[in-house]
Amino acid sequence: SVILYNDSFLMREQGKVDMEDRGYQFGDGIYEALRVYNGKMFLLDLHMKRLERSARELRLDLPYDTPHLVDRLKTLIQKNEMNDGYVYFQVTRGAIARKHRFPEKKIDCVLTGSVEATPRDEDLHPDGIKVSLLDDIRWLRCDIKTLNLLGNVLANQEAYEKGADDAILHRGGIVTEGTTCNVFMVKDGTLITHLADHFILNGITRLFVLGLAEQLGIPVEERTFTTEELLNADEVFITSTGVRVCPVTKIDEHPVGDGRPGPVSQQLLDAFNRAIVKFIAE
Ligand code: PLP
Repeated sequence: SVILYNDSFLMREQGKVDMEDRGYQFGDGIYEALRVYNGKMFLLDLHMKRLERSARELRLDLPYDTPHLVDRLKTLIQKNEMNDGYVYFQVTRGAIARKHRFPEKKIDCVLTGSVEATPRDEDLHPDGIKVSLLDDIRWLRCDIKTLNLLGNVLANQEAYEKGADDAILHRGGIVTEGTTCNVFMVKDGTLITHLADHFILNGITRLFVLGLAEQLGIPVEERTFTTEELLNADEVFITSTGVRVCPVTKIDEHPVGDGRPGPVSQQLLDAFNRAIVKFIAE
């Protein structure tokens, strides 16, 4: 496959990064992952806005401006002749002799991007998924989409070893998000999800689903909720670029509601799929 390396296109085998790259040594970098439908990037502007915000928060100068980056990503998709899949890219602060503080002299960022073809499915998990409820041991700036994902990695692995598909994380009994997704619960017809503060990543899918809920007249509360509320919810679902809207039907050994995907989750997934059909046709 063809990859993006700074401003050039290379074959995947040629993409090599310096051993003193700060992304490699410190996780000092940021990333984005977007869904591609029919060769077009979905919710592109929101992803680019979030990237710019992540860069500002880490005081990282992006190697080039957003329109140019978008152009490079479009070319990357074309060069790989990809219709449906993902584009992933990341930017690190660059390579220099290892020191925690920022480099004193200006060094070049390292940008790498790649694609992964994946067919488009209407419903990835028709029976819902099982999750494990785990402690959120991550740092206090989960709102920045950084390469530092060890807290997410460890929880995802622990969930996997417990026979679950993902983990839902909580800080002292307050539900935050999943290891790769945001978490929503439904109680008495109201959609509840953690507010977008420093404890969660403000998912682009989360924002899109909140918009769909508004259009569908589903009441929404962006507030903290407890693990107890989660376990007593009528429905629980996760959102991410990868899964869109995915029902959670089991939390450890507790079935959610009647143990089947619920009507609100289905209604949102249907609306989501209609929006994708419209996006493809545009
Ligand atoms: N929360 C975390 C920790 C994530 O890693 C992700 C996506 O990778 C999300 C939420 C969902 O974000 P998005 O909807 O932008 O994919």
